[in-house]
Formats: sequence, C-alpha cells, structure tokens
Amino acid sequence: EQPVDFDFPGILRRIEADVRPQIGQGQVAAYIPALSCVDPNRFGMAIADLDGKVYGVGDWQQPFSTQSITKVFALALALAQGGDDLWEKVGREPSGNPFNSLVQLEYENGIPRNPFINAGALVVTDRLQTLTGDASSELLEFVRQESGNPDVTFDPEVAASESDNGDRNAALAHFMASYGNIANPIPALLDHYFWQCSIEMNCSDLALATLFLARHGLRADGTRLLPRRLAKQINAVMMTCGTYDAAGEFAYRVGLPGKSGVGGGIVAVVPGVCTVCVWSPGLDPQGNSVAGIAALDRFTSLTGLSVF
Ligand code: GLU
Repeated sequence: EQPVDFDFPGILRRIEADVRPQIGQGQVAAYIPALSCVDPNRFGMAIADLDGKVYGVGDWQQPFSTQSITKVFALALALAQGGDDLWEKVGREPSGNPFNSLVQLEYENGIPRNPFINAGALVVTDRLQTLTGDASSELLEFVRQESGNPDVTFDPEVAASESDNGDRNAALAHFMASYGNIANPIPALLDHYFWQCSIEMNCSDLALATLFLARHGLRADGTRLLPRRLAKQINAVMMTCGTYDAAGEFAYRVGLPGKSGVGGGIVAVVPGVCTVCVWSPGLDPQGNSVAGIAALDRFTSLTGLSVF
C-alpha cells in the first residue's frame, strides 16, 4: 500500500473554510417529516486511514440518517455471503434515472440496473434476507463491529416514517416479484429495507465502517470479508452508480468511488489509502449533498488522491 503522510487535520480545516459558502445551500430531504427538520447548516467531515485512525472537522461526531449509504453494506454482505451469483438478479450499469424510478424495470424484465437505485437495493436486501434470515440485524451488527461503535442503531421514527411513505418502494418490490426477482415476503422485505435506511451513524463511524473497501476486502480485525476481486467490484459500482443520476458528474469532479444518501452524507473510498465521509444536509436536485460534493472535490484537488 502507498505510505500516507498527508496533513489530514490541516487539509480538513482548509476544506471546511473553502466550502463555507456552500454549507446551507440546497434543500433538506422533505419526503419524510423526520428528515425535513434537520438543520441545513450542519457540516462534518472525517478521514479514516488504513490503520483506523480518524481525523475530523466540524460536526463529524454528530449522528445523521445514513439512508442510501447503507446500500453499500448490504451489497458487501450479500456478496460476501452469497458470491457473485447476485449479479444474475441485479445489473451494474448506471441508470441515468432517479433513484426510485420504475421505468427501466419493465424493459429489463424486473432486473434493476444496479444495486444502488432503490429497486436494486431491494433485490440485494432480499438476497441478504435469504442468506442470513435477518438482513437488517446482520447489517447493523456489521456496521457496529467495523465502526467500533456498539451504540450505532436504527432511528425508529425514521423507519416508521419510511414505512408510512413507502408506496413507491412497495410498488418496486411487487413489480420485481411479478418477474420472480424477489424471493421473500414483501412486507418483511420492506421492513428490512426501511430499517436499513434508518440507521444513524456519524462521519467517523461511516469512514471506519467503509474502510474494508480501502483495504481491498479486509475487515477492521484483519479477517477477510471479501476477496480482493469483489472489493474492486463494489468500488467500481460505487464510482459508476453511487451518486444517483449524477454519478458522471461525481466522477468528473471527485474521481473516487462514492455513495451518497438523502440524509446528506457521502462516503468516498481512496483504495489502498483511506476513506472519507462528509455530511451536510442540503441536497442538490439529484439528492446529493451540495457542500458534501464541494468538500470531496476540494479533498481530491488538495491531496491529488483520486483514482485518476
Ligand atoms: N429511504 C429512501 C428511499 O428508499 C432512501 C433514499 C436515499 O437515500 O437514496 O426512498
């Protein structure tokens, strides 16, 4: 691995100062009440190096709703436990459509474009449920262990809100089931999916919990979660599909595998070097944190740490 001797504390302070004008810009997710009341002026960022040392700035220890970022953990666990048979049920092409879109499913026989749009994440969670019998507990246990934070938990209010406003996700699941691409009972599957969306973590937790992707598949305790080949696959799919229908723009500006969530968090992986997590709740029209993207853009510009 490459030796790292960056002044991460200094870099984080500089980024926070540079993106100050973007903090508070954009719209906080409003599709459920529990997310709409988050203060848009929050900003936190953390970097975790390969040894698990974390550097942070701003609100980096403030828990927030991880939302779609947990799709990365579900994918990693489903691949770790079931291998790449998963790719028969879900594709790995960018969709170019909004995250909750139904349109491509009809033309593509109920096979979602990728694991990071909602349809694909439902298929992945369904597979994880089949493999483990309890997809959301498996995922929670994993993020607790990797982050070293046993207090990571679901926000029951967010989970209930997701469920109350879950018609679109229910429609996606039923539609895919009509093509035989969902194996488990849909109400339970949706509960697992909503729980997984409602996990709360802070920037430090998320940077640590995604380090296995920077370590080419190795967990915090040194054991192997994934063969190097599968860790590479996940990083590749994050690069091409991890930021909704703005993944091209994210690759262009940031140049790293990344995954965002509508809670305003984004994780990015520098393979062989570190992970970065940034949080600021104001979202652009595609659902990505405005200040978060600006901060990651500054990070790769200041450090030269991009895959390109
Ligand atoms: N809970 C959201 C949904 O399924 C996830 C949104 C996201 O972060 O992309 O609609």
